[in-house]
Amino acid sequence: MVVLIVGAGVGGLASALLLARAGHSVRILERASALAEAGGGLQISPNGMKVLAHCGLDAAVLERGFLPESIEMRHGRSGELQAQFEIKHTAPKRWGASYVHIHRADLIDVLFNACSNHPNINIQMNTAVQTIESSEARCTVIDEHSQQYHADLLVGADGIHSVVRQFMHGDDRPRYTGHTAWRACIALADLKGPPPPPSACAWTGPGRHAVTTWLRGGQWVNFVGVVEDPQWKTESWRIKQPVDAAKAHFANWHPVIAGVLDSVDELYRWGLYDRAPLSHWHQGSAVLLGDAAHPMLPSAAQGAVQALEDAFVLADALAQFDDIGRALVVYESRRKPRATRVQKTSRQNAAMFHRKNALTQWLQFAPIKGISTFAPELFYRRYDWLYGG
Ligand SMILES: Cc1cc2nc3c(=O)[nH]c(=O)nc-3n(C[C@H](O)[C@H](O)[C@H](O)COP(=O)(O)OP(=O)(O)OC[C@H]3O[C@@H](n4cnc5c(N)ncnc54)[C@H](O)[C@@H]3O)c2cc1C
Repeated sequence: MVVLIVGAGVGGLASALLLARAGHSVRILERASALAEAGGGLQISPNGMKVLAHCGLDAAVLERGFLPESIEMRHGRSGELQAQFEIKHTAPKRWGASYVHIHRADLIDVLFNACSNHPNINIQMNTAVQTIESSEARCTVIDEHSQQYHADLLVGADGIHSVVRQFMHGDDRPRYTGHTAWRACIALADLKGPPPPPSACAWTGPGRHAVTTWLRGGQWVNFVGVVEDPQWKTESWRIKQPVDAAKAHFANWHPVIAGVLDSVDELYRWGLYDRAPLSHWHQGSAVLLGDAAHPMLPSAAQGAVQALEDAFVLADALAQFDDIGRALVVYESRRKPRATRVQKTSRQNAAMFHRKNALTQWLQFAPIKGISTFAPELFYRRYDWLYGG
């Protein structure tokens, strides 16, 4: 079968690898001229690492990544520990794979190299897809230079502004969630304050939260600060803003957060968008995966992981059924309920981290602290459906 994939992000590259390994001939069309250092740290939970293991890439990812000791929640100003769950040893035992932090550029590099070395995969950069025609039997894609490409299957892995999604669902726009994200990545040696804990640490506060993680074997620190802001709607991974505005958002926060912000002159900042769940993910011989199908807030750290899960299930359904239409129905029925649940969980996490006053914060975090201290098993059980999937 000839497969065209639009987009060389995490979802597109993983999908290419799994389909090529099943014997299909794959061509990836990517708009960018190079897959540069875009984005920052990603948390890849065990459900995502299992897909990467299936791609034969878990060792390469572990080599470039970092294994956090725990998942933590801390009060943004005081740094008081609200909850802490050991993850380094628990994740492989309980969910079958490690919980890993890795820079997005490193993960893309690992996937891109594996695709480049596969004889069944052709990656074509500088190719922005503009038009799509798809029937049950065949699809045709036309790029910005009017070049046509034909395939038996078209995979839309082209992110939140997907043209493949637009072809299926028309010209609706993603909705601004009211949240913007600040992002910085700093070498540990350049840090001007105390280092954050070697964990996946969410720092909570009214209408905002921050997440600190370690990357690249612990040599780098990653910071994401999510702030409710109805005004800022620009969405680009490449827009930088002076650090002063970020400092104002996190004024009087713990020295770890202040130290991170003191260490940079500017940070990336962009608006966070999502969509309501789509009515369908496939049409004719075209199908969506990753952010094209189910964009979500980063508050559950699952966008890229869910794209990996999509890639695995799509390849598995196509291996099970010769009829592409039947395989796409099975893919959507296996993936959509789960991805929709994760979208919902991401929104709930953002609301939980952002409790507005001392009372609502106490009501939210006192029970979690109790669970963390006396019954951590309840926390692990709560995430079995997600990380054990
Ligand atoms: C602040 C923040 C923190 C995050 N943290 C995490 C985390 O910890 N863990 C996690 O799992 N996820 C996280 N995410 C989410 C994650 O980054 C995304 O969900 C993931 O990158 C989606 O991958 P994708 O392959 O579906 O799409 P993308 O990564 O968006 O890739 C789409 C690709 O398609 C290309 N493209 C677009 N249009 C065209 C076209 N017309 N023609 C050709 N090519 C095209 C683009 O250039 C791009 O390369 C985070 C997101 C944010 C914003």
